[in-house]
Formats: sequence, structure tokens, C-alpha cells
Amino acid sequence: MSTRAIRGRILTFLRQPEGQGDSDSYRYIADGIVHVVDGRIAAVGPTPEIVRGLPPGTTVDAWPDQLILPGLIDLHIHLPQTQVIASYGAQLLDWLERYTFVEEQKYADPAHAAAGARFFLDELLRNGTTTAVVYGSVHAASAEAFFTESARRGTAMIAGKVMMDRNAPPALCDTAQAAYDDSKALIARWHGQARQRYAVTPRFAITSTPGELAAAGALMAEHPSCHMQTHLSENLNEIAATKALFPEARDYLDVYDRHGLLGPGALFGHCIHLEPAEIARMAETGSVAVFCPTSNLFIGSGLFDWRRLEGERLRIGLATDVGGGTSYSMLRTAAEGYKVLQLQGQNLPALRAFDQMTRGNAAALGMVDEIGRIEPGAYADLVVLDAAATRAMAHRMETVRDLEEELFVLMTLGDERSVRATYVQGRPQ
Ligand SMILES: [Zn+2]
Repeated sequence: MSTRAIRGRILTFLRQPEGQGDSDSYRYIADGIVHVVDGRIAAVGPTPEIVRGLPPGTTVDAWPDQLILPGLIDLHIHLPQTQVIASYGAQLLDWLERYTFVEEQKYADPAHAAAGARFFLDELLRNGTTTAVVYGSVHAASAEAFFTESARRGTAMIAGKVMMDRNAPPALCDTAQAAYDDSKALIARWHGQARQRYAVTPRFAITSTPGELAAAGALMAEHPSCHMQTHLSENLNEIAATKALFPEARDYLDVYDRHGLLGPGALFGHCIHLEPAEIARMAETGSVAVFCPTSNLFIGSGLFDWRRLEGERLRIGLATDVGGGTSYSMLRTAAEGYKVLQLQGQNLPALRAFDQMTRGNAAALGMVDEIGRIEPGAYADLVVLDAAATRAMAHRMETVRDLEEELFVLMTLGDERSVRATYVQGRPQ
């Protein structure tokens, strides 16, 4: 039996906060201990209460002034774009052709994919992200390399090989049959194994023929516990091109709907320019709209209308979308999300942002019993955050009066420098 105690200021969310000051939405312990046994949380509570029950010889990691939260969760990110991030001056379709499709071809080489997976997971963990939903490249080897590396580290990751059989360079195109066969083999090998889960991953409607989308639908019908991830309504030219390719579809979402790709396990990146019928259909099917603020600003795609979508009862997620996104940090992502909402007269209170990065994103994945909360039985995937990590932050913290203000400083000024430690199954990374 391996056991460890992690001591500090513990914060975990119980439900979605209704707004600022909603102190019933979270549990905060000013001096608490998370007791980890064999990778899972055995107990959590005030130090005097927990310390008595610790087995003799338990290692205690003390973080006296730091906040201990559940590990952060990123709902949309691209493995083969670590050398696409920060590519200058293009909107979506042009950006894909000029930069992304060039880099993604390198993932045909398993050695390149393995090195890329190592860098990528290191970077996620440095940023306190312990679970992510990941697009590979079109090559099965990319997903294979990623799952292998993730399983070695014990992280809970959801990923899939991209399905793409048209409107891309020949070296990046599969066929409907090959995409089906490769995905099926990866599901058999990895889905439900060593904390890994599979996401059926058609890149988006433009790069898949109806036959390939049908193959994706068949995979989801045969493996309903898999997730499905794709892009939806990110950019106006993309929407026009989709409608031209699928004239029979009622709208963009309908392209996916008629192939059986909607549902509670479906994650749709961006969802910026949705029509009312699309919003209603997403709500009806329990599909998730994933907000990627740094990407939407960087590629100039538009502003995600959180208030409207939430008002229509859509399930919502938050994500970096690296390499269209410009930071691996979920803290930076929340900061940019705040600004996107400000531009629309909306707001993102710090409590809402931190709930979304942890419990909220876990709920969007249907995984709230395993990750996203510091509760007995959940995996001990944790992040230790320092709101005074930089000179400017420490200076600002001198005037901070309460937890909510501290969280807002963390999300507005924080990045990987604020991450003092990341734990995966109770092991420091
Ligand atoms: Zn994306």
C-alpha cells in the first residue's frame, strides 16, 4: 500500500457557483490534508482530524500557503500542433493549410510522434492539467504514442486519431474504411485501459466525406461509451464551405446529427456562430459546446456567447485549443475567457472559472466521480497553485482580502509559474 498526505489550503467545488459570493458551491479548508492511498483519495478534511488516522511513516507534503485544487481539465487540444502554436496571420482555413497540415504530416513517423507526446504531456503537467481531450494526427501511430506515454505516467486522457479523407494533403488523408479500422483497433487496445479513453475524432465536416462521417457514426453506435470530438461553427468561411459540401443538411450541426454523432459524449469545439435550431438540438441531445477563448481571439473567429448557450441549457466546457490557442495554461485560458465575455457585456466570476476548469469540465466528460473534485474515492490528481508566484502577483496579493479575489488574481495573472506542483494519482510529477 502506498500512502501520502498532501497538506495545504484545500479548495474543491460541490456544484456550479451561481455567481460571486456563492460560498455554498465549494468546500474550502484553510489547513487541510488530502490523504492518498494507492492513487486515490482516501480522506480529506481539516489537518487535526485527518492527521490522527494517517498510517505511521506516511509522507507529508506540506504546502502551507498554497491552494490545493483538483488537477485542471482541458477539453480540446491538438497533440501535433506543439510547433504550430504562435503561427502568424491567418484565419481558420488558411491557417490549417499553411501551418497545421504541414506539421501534422511529421506525425507519420512514430519516433516524432513519441517525442511529441512526451513534450506535450510534460507541458500539460507543468501547467497543472491532469486530464485533456486530445486530437492526434490522422496517423494511428500518433494516438498510439500518446496513449502509451499517458499510460506510463498514469494520467487520465481521452484521445483519438483524426479522421480526414478529403480537402487535405494526400499524405494526411485516410479513407473511410481505414479510419474505421484504425479507430476500432485503437478502441480495442486503449479504451478503458489504464485510465485511457477513446474519442472518435472526425476533424470537421469539411475534411470528411459522408462515407467517413457514417463510419464515425458506426464507431459511436458500436462503442457508446467512447467520446466523440469535432469542430463546429468556428468561422464564417468554414460554415459556408460546409453548407456547400452538404447541401442536403439543414444546418452545420445537422451534418453531424444525420450521422449519429450527437449525444452526451459529444464535444463540439468552438460553437461560436450557432443558429437557434442548432442550439436547441445540442441542448436536446446533451451535446457539449467547448469554449476555446485564446484560439477564438488568435484566429479571429469570434466571441463565444456563454450566457445565451447556458440560458438555452447547453452543457459547456472550457479548453485551450493549442495550437490555434496560444497557451497550454487553463489559467490563461480562463483570463481570456473573461475578456471574451466582457466584450459582450457578460462576466466570468472567478468561482465559475475555477469550477469550470475542474468539476465543470469533469461533468462535461461524465467523469465527475473520478476526476475534478477532491472527494474520497476520486483519483488524487491535484494541482498546487501559488497566487504570489511572480513579483507582480505577490505585490497585488498584498491587497487581496478573500479567497475569491485571490482566485481572480490567479486566473488573470497566473500561468505555469503559479503551478508549484502537479500530482497524478498522488505522485508528484
Ligand atoms: Zn481544435
